[in-house]
Amino acid sequence: MRIIETIAEMQQAADNWRAHGERIGFVPTMGFLHKGHLDLMRTARRLSSQVVISIFVNPTQFAPHEDFDSYPRDMQRDLDFAREVGVDAVFTPNLHEMYPEGFQTYVTVTEVSKNLCGRSRPVFFRGVATVVSKLFHAVKPHLSVFGEKDFQQLVTIRRMVRDMNMDVEIIGHPIVREEDGLAMSSRNAYLRPEERPVALRLGRALALAQDLVSSGERQVDAILGKVSEFIAGDGAAKIDYAQICDPNTLEDIAHIGGPALLALAVWVGKTRLIDNRILQPSG
Ligand code: AMP
Repeated sequence: MRIIETIAEMQQAADNWRAHGERIGFVPTMGFLHKGHLDLMRTARRLSSQVVISIFVNPTQFAPHEDFDSYPRDMQRDLDFAREVGVDAVFTPNLHEMYPEGFQTYVTVTEVSKNLCGRSRPVFFRGVATVVSKLFHAVKPHLSVFGEKDFQQLVTIRRMVRDMNMDVEIIGHPIVREEDGLAMSSRNAYLRPEERPVALRLGRALALAQDLVSSGERQVDAILGKVSEFIAGDGAAKIDYAQICDPNTLEDIAHIGGPALLALAVWVGKTRLIDNRILQPSG
C-alpha cells in the first residue's frame, strides 16, 4: 500500500493508472476509521481496480469554536485498517499542502447546503465542497463513495459534480450502525459510557417516526413533536435540529406525500450526533 503525501505524487500515480486503463475508486475521510468507513472502502474495492482513500482533517469545514484541534486522530491504526481492506494508496496531505499561503478559492453549493447542518454550521458545506473538489483534482477518481449518514453532504457533492461537469461517479452508501443501532461515527469516541443510552435515542426516534408514518400519520409537525419529545423530553439531550425535508431539494415539507428525509442533529453532552432516515409512506 502506497502512502502519498503530495498532490504532485498523487496526480502522477493517478495519471499512470489511467494510462494503463485502471479504474480509480476513491473514499475521502477524516481518518479515525471505523467499520462504516471500511464498508465504503470495500464498496470502492468491488467497483474499481485501484482504491485510494484520503485521510485529511479539513480545517475549512470547522468553525473556530468547533472540534478541529480535538478531532480524534490515529494514523497508524488507520493505515492498518486500510491495508486489511486492500486499499492501494492512502493520500495524506498535510495542511500546508492542501492550503498553502495565499489560498483563496472556495466552492459554494448555494441551495442544498442552506438548510439542516447548513444552518447550525454555516461554513461547513463550503469547506466540504472545496476540499472534495481539491481531492478530486489530486486523485482523479472515476468513482467516489460517500456515506448516507452525511445525507446533506452526499446531496451537496452530487450537486457540485453535476454543476461543475466533474467526471466522477458518486456512489451513496447506506448508513452503517453499531449492533445497538447507533450510527457509526469517529465522534462516537467522545461519548461517555453513561451518555450512550441517550445517544441510542436517535436511531430509535427514526424508527418511531417510520411507525407513525406507517400507521397513517402524514403531518410533519405531529411527527416532529413526538420525535423531539422522545429524544429530549427529559432534558438528557438537546436537539440542534429535527426536520423533515424533500430528499432532493432538502427543503422543509409540511405534509408527507412520498419518500421524505427525517434528519436529526442532537447534542448528547458535548458530542453532536447526526442521523437520518428516508420515511416511506408505503411501509
Ligand atoms: P468522515 O471521516 O466522518 O468525514 O467520513 C468519511 C466518509 O465516511 C463520509 O462519506 C461519511 O458519510 C462516511 N461515513 C461515516 N460514518 C458512516 C456510517 N456510519 N455509515 C456510512 N457512511 C459513513
